[in-house]
Amino acid sequence: MAPPVFRFAPSPNGRLHLGHAYSALLNARMARETGGRLLLRIEDIDGERCTPENIDAAIADLAWLGLPFEKPVLQQSRRMAAYREAIATLMEMDLLYVCTCTRKELAAFSDASPQAPRDPEGQALYPGTCRRVAHMFSAGSALRLRMAEAAARAGSLSWTEKGEPVTARPECWGDVIIARKGIGTSYHLSVVVDDAFQGVTDIVRGEDLREQTSIHRLLQVLLGLPEPRYHHHDLIRHDSGRKLAKSRGDESLADLRAAGVSADQIRMLLGFA
Ligand code: GLU
Ligand code: ZN
Repeated sequence: MAPPVFRFAPSPNGRLHLGHAYSALLNARMARETGGRLLLRIEDIDGERCTPENIDAAIADLAWLGLPFEKPVLQQSRRMAAYREAIATLMEMDLLYVCTCTRKELAAFSDASPQAPRDPEGQALYPGTCRRVAHMFSAGSALRLRMAEAAARAGSLSWTEKGEPVTARPECWGDVIIARKGIGTSYHLSVVVDDAFQGVTDIVRGEDLREQTSIHRLLQVLLGLPEPRYHHHDLIRHDSGRKLAKSRGDESLADLRAAGVSADQIRMLLGFA
């Protein structure tokens, strides 16, 4: 039987922190314990935030931790042709529409409509303003999924979470964006296309992405992609209980390293000694 395939897929839009190290180390341990492969994928579709410096730094931090990722490393910014193909497939199924709403308009709607249904992260669902308008597609507009139609087409969906079946409910996310304005793809689309492309069998990632798995299962079924197993792990928390975030200046691996902390100490701190 082919060995399981694990991957760590950071978005280097800042420096990697302890949360990233935990996820990468857990993937590495599970791969080792199962005789599996360990891949690295750089999720850099957002070229403005994922700068070459951040990408190089992320790769250097992971090398410093001593993680045995296979080469070559897949970079999503080089995979646009594959995403376009997947988008064309969804277009042919008549499951996408062009949305020209601005962030401001959406925020105004959200504020003005406290009663509007919300997604699992508390955002108001997209009200469907553009659903019935035949906007011309351009780089300045986004593509959204016709969620009701897509979910009906896919039928009942589930995923395996740590070996147990979980019911997927993509409808609770509404008409999600499949191609972002000016980017041409989205996290959801790219992640399912690349997990399939890399032959990933086991997705081990943070609990914060658990609910989004519903969207990923839907896209996998619509695009005829294989179904991986999922394992969402607890997030490493700040002393105050909130999740670590580079945007809030939580200590990066680079800062810890500069302060003289060794890779062994990081492993120990995170319970991987
Ligand atoms: N790139 C995503 C992130 O850093 C994670 C992707 C995934 O593991 O599915 O949040
Ligand atoms: Zn719109």
